[in-house]
Amino acid sequence: MYCALLSDVHANFEALDAVLRDVDRRGIPDILFLGDAVGYGPDPNECVDLLVERCKVLLAGNHDRAAIGLQDISYFNIYARNAIEWTMKVLTEKNRGIIGSWPFEEEMKDEDVLLVHSTPKEPSEWHYLLTLWDAEINFQYFDNKFCFLGHSHQPFVIEKVPSGELVTHKDGTRIREGSRYIINTGSVGQPRDGDPRACYAVMNGEDIDIVRVSYDIASVQDKMKKERLPEPLIERILVGK
Ligand code: ZN
Repeated sequence: MYCALLSDVHANFEALDAVLRDVDRRGIPDILFLGDAVGYGPDPNECVDLLVERCKVLLAGNHDRAAIGLQDISYFNIYARNAIEWTMKVLTEKNRGIIGSWPFEEEMKDEDVLLVHSTPKEPSEWHYLLTLWDAEINFQYFDNKFCFLGHSHQPFVIEKVPSGELVTHKDGTRIREGSRYIINTGSVGQPRDGDPRACYAVMNGEDIDIVRVSYDIASVQDKMKKERLPEPLIERILVGK
């Protein structure tokens, strides 16, 4: 298995394009997408088109479901809500249909991998996996060796070693026999860990790596201004918070 895992693109075409170039440069054959193609950013249709063209698996995130009217947005903050309302207006009928066909999770049995946007526990409830305690609970909700997810925009690898202890790796790790893993691939289009560079994960059967890629943030900000997307959303992609 040699693949790139991308999540939380959030309609940031420049970030997605930069990541795909990096994937191609490395010669990685398969790309798997873990959800939230849209929401926040200025290029929802372009991102959906490119993801559909390039990815072997595509999952739905909460913003994707919200953008097609299938997810209540009353719990979204005001900026996320404004951006979703704008997205609903510009999303094409075709892309609405495509997004509606994406599942919440997918199991790749041959690779012993579970893919999900939020958490293995109740994937459609959009829980966040933020603490080791959250990880401990979620390890009980899947049997596979690997679970890749997104949603919090915070990249990490949590390893459950055979004795049951949990170990966190920030930038990736060598894969060990007997261990199981929950991997958050971070966010392509709106990182929130203080590093504004686009983030994704690479898995090659021996290692899992968290990869960062620079992209043209200013040009995305210009587009967002033109579309009058909320100012705090424009500012946050520059600081990665
Ligand atoms: Zn997201």
